Order: sequence, then structure tokens, then C-alpha cells
Amino acid sequence: MKIFFLDQSGKPGGAELCLIDIAKPYGDRALVGLFADGAFKELLQQNHIPVEVLATQAIQVHKEGTLVQGLKSVGQLAPLITKVIKKAREYDLIYANTQKALVVGALASFFSHRPLVYHLHDILSKEHFSQTNLRIAINLANRCASLVIANSQASKTAFIQAGGRSDIVEVVYNGFNPKIYQTDESDINQLQQKLGLQGKFVVGHFSRLAPWKGQHILIDALAKCPPEVTVMLVGDALFGEQDYVKQLHQQVADLGLENRVQFLGFRSDIPQLMAACDLVAHTSTSPEPFGRVIVEAMLCGKPIVAAKAGGVMELVEHGLNGFLVTPGEPQELAQVIITCLQETEITATIANNARTTASGRFDIATINQQIAQLLSDKF
Ligand code: UDP
Repeated sequence: MKIFFLDQSGKPGGAELCLIDIAKPYGDRALVGLFADGAFKELLQQNHIPVEVLATQAIQVHKEGTLVQGLKSVGQLAPLITKVIKKAREYDLIYANTQKALVVGALASFFSHRPLVYHLHDILSKEHFSQTNLRIAINLANRCASLVIANSQASKTAFIQAGGRSDIVEVVYNGFNPKIYQTDESDINQLQQKLGLQGKFVVGHFSRLAPWKGQHILIDALAKCPPEVTVMLVGDALFGEQDYVKQLHQQVADLGLENRVQFLGFRSDIPQLMAACDLVAHTSTSPEPFGRVIVEAMLCGKPIVAAKAGGVMELVEHGLNGFLVTPGEPQELAQVIITCLQETEITATIANNARTTASGRFDIATINQQIAQLLSDKF
């Protein structure tokens, strides 16, 4: 099957990293069309996945945009849409991986007479999106997509609650290659030395810097922990959240935590960095659609503490394979960090359980089979 994947982003967020794994098996029969240039294109090239940047100018995407803005951006998209329609005729299927890709993909599907799949990586609720964008996404999915792949039960439920058709939506979790998450002890020691982490209890946070990802909650929690606890923030402001970055630095300074918080920016060595941590924290203040970092921490054999909402509750069972805390509650988070610091044996057992179950449940080979099966059943 020849698949034409579409993604609006030039930057590698979770949806884009997931797409790399999905597109790989289709090799040179596939093409990933991007609406922006950037590091994501390079990652696709490194993985030998054919890629083309289809937009000549950056497309503005406002999650809280109005209907007028929405229509204006469709006008802006005209040259891109024309290009996508022409390309789509060379493929059997259009696979939209993001919301702007759904808009363009739906039009291309109509004009090129190619079926459309929408991979839903979002919780389509008012908490995350404007009413306009919700309406557009649901209507286009309902009318134009033959299949919607939701990245969790939570994303599927929100889609249906927002008016999405239940007969076209299927849940497929993100897949991972467990081997990538095994790091040699010597590499861990080297990294710990380089980052000055030895003798410390390191809590890692791996996410783009954005208010709803809740890095500020972790910093507040850190202020309530003993001095040997330090925090490593890995990730950058991918979608222009520069004010939040400033705010985080200010918060660290105000709390006198400069020597206990490191900002590492965007990194490509996530498995190694996670291996150098004692605990991984996920602190989203709004429901997380899936939460790749949670599974990645499990695969690294690291204990995970995560905010109890959305898809996270399908990944973590409190006390069995990780810890759950109320979103936006630094006191509760601090308590779990202190428990992990003190109860090392129980915590290690929980992390080992998590590694074993996650390796089976989210294995990329199985996940790719599920997607291939859905595609061959439908098309
Ligand atoms: N990530 C990365 N480098 C960074 C920070 C994060 O490669 O500096 C990766 C992280 O390992 C995960 C993804 O970005 O695979 C984020 O996915 P997640 O589902 O956690 O959140 P999203 O970005 O989709 O909201």
C-alpha cells in the first residue's frame, strides 16, 4: 500500500516521533509531506523515510483561533492544497497526522478520490482547543475520514463526546522499540559525571516547555524536597512559549533553586538521559492524550510519577507500575518524590514490573501490525 502521510509540523513533538515509527515499514512506497521545514524533516531522512516540505511559507496555527482566522488560514493554504491534491493521486491513501493535516488531507481526499485516515493525537476538548477548531476537526473527520486512529481510549472518548462518529474510531497506542531504551552502565556514569549528577537524586522531566506540561509544578514540588533532590528539565519551547520559559527561570531564581535545576533544552538522547535519572516526572495540568514519556521511562526501567488524567490512566496503575498524583498539586508530587528517595527497594520493584509489562504492551512490531491490519480491513 502506497501511503501519503501529512503532518503540519517541522518540529519533532510526540505526534511526529510516533509518525516516524508508523511510516518506517512503508519505506520508499510512502512519502511524508510536511507543512514546515525543520528538525523533523532531518529525523525522517535519518530514518530513510522519503520526505518533502510542501509549504513554501510557514502556516500559522492557533489552537484558540476564531472561525474568521480559521477561514483565513484555509485561504493561505491554497497553494499547499493544490500541491497535496496533485501528489495524492500518486498514492493509495492519505494519512493525516495532525489537525492542519486533516484540513488539507480532507480537501485532497475529496479532489483526488483517495481515502483518508486521521491519526488523532489530541484530546479534542475545550480545555485544549477553541470551539471553532473542535467543530472543524470533528466535522472533517466525520465526513471525510474512513478511519480515525485514536492514540488512547481517552482521546477516543473525547472525540465521540465532541460529536465524532464512534463507528470509524479505533484505539492504537504508540509503539516503541524496547532495545533503544537499554543503556550501558558506563554510558550512564559518563553522562552523570558530565552533568554533575553524581550523589544526587535526579528527577527528570522530558517534555516541551509549555504551561500545560506543568514544569512549574515540579519546580514547586522540588522546593519542598530535601537538598539532595535535583531536577533536570529536558525539552524546549517548540511552539513559541517563550514567556513560559522566562517564567520558569524566574521561579527557579525566586525559590533559590539555581543549583538544583538544570535546563537542558531539546535533546535527542532521551533514553540515555532517562537512564541517568532516579525518577521521571510527568506533570501535565490538562489531560494528556497519551504521554510517550511515561512509556519511555518504563522502558528505561525508571520509576515514573504521572499526573492522573486522560490517557495516563491507561498507562499507569498506582503502586503497580508507577505512581499517580493529582494534576497541579506540588505537595502531593513532593510526597511521592520523597517516598521514591527513601523506599528504594519497593520503587525499584515497581520500575522493573513496569519495564516488563511496557516492553510487551507497547512493542512497535505489535503496534505496527495493528495499524497494518486496520488499513487492510478498511481499504
Ligand atoms: N522529547 C525529545 N526531546 C526532548 C524532549 C522530549 O525527543 O528534548 C520526546 C520525548 O521523549 C517524547 C516526545 O518528545 O517521545 C513527547 O511526547 P509526549 O507524548 O510525551 O508529549 P507531546 O509532545 O506529544 O505532547
